[in-house]
Amino acid sequence: MIIAANWKMNPSLDIAGGLVSALNANSFQPVKLILFVPHPFLMPISAHLGKSNIRLGGQDCHQEAGGAHTGDVAAEMLKDCGASIVLLGHSERRKNHGEKSEQIASKARQALAQGLDIMICVGETLSERQAGRAEQIVIDQLRTSVPNHTPQGQLMIAYEPVWAIGTGKVPSLLEIAKMHSAIAGELNKLYSGKIVGSVPILYGGSVNRKNAASILSLNNVDGGLIGGASLDSEAFGSICDVARAQMSKSELNP
Ligand code: PGA
Repeated sequence: MIIAANWKMNPSLDIAGGLVSALNANSFQPVKLILFVPHPFLMPISAHLGKSNIRLGGQDCHQEAGGAHTGDVAAEMLKDCGASIVLLGHSERRKNHGEKSEQIASKARQALAQGLDIMICVGETLSERQAGRAEQIVIDQLRTSVPNHTPQGQLMIAYEPVWAIGTGKVPSLLEIAKMHSAIAGELNKLYSGKIVGSVPILYGGSVNRKNAASILSLNNVDGGLIGGASLDSEAFGSICDVARAQMSKSELNP
């Protein structure tokens, strides 16, 4: 189970330090934690994490190695600041910055070249779901955003329905399970059937301490990407606890 926090453009550095202290004080092992923090916070949060095994990630990177790109951040810089993974293709980047899947694949290639792992976000809008096109959209995004030959161990997918992000609305458990199974099937094709269960598929979109248990218990749901609730240390801690409980349940009933 992987529980990843997407802080987006939040919070203040002070509050961020408090969140990290709260996480450092708990051991949610064997749950793997990732914090996707605003770029200026990578260095201070990395120092704050110290020897913790919580991973640090950037929220985006440029597709080129460097150069005249005012305001952008290179994958190598993320690495230099302590990140080992980068979140790519979040729907807020796709919408607010017009990022297309081809560009996301270029960013992913750059991140991989710098030795970063990648978490690629896919998800349909409400109108696409209402038109019955959710699965087709997500699978298309997956095919186009994930570079060919991405090493399995460096890839994670986050399924985030756009209409569920920050809205308190969540798809039904059946809808989540169906989409995750479609994504797993597509990954299997991408890797010519040689998938060894090492590409985690996370669900994101209004996950909270109440709905986490039912979502995380679904087949092919390997964790959660948490936005709003990751800014509240108690709520985030409860979600991590749920993930840990889920892991011990699956160990008992594999
Ligand atoms: P949310 O955000 O948990 O606030 O819905 C999730 C995300 O955007 O990654």
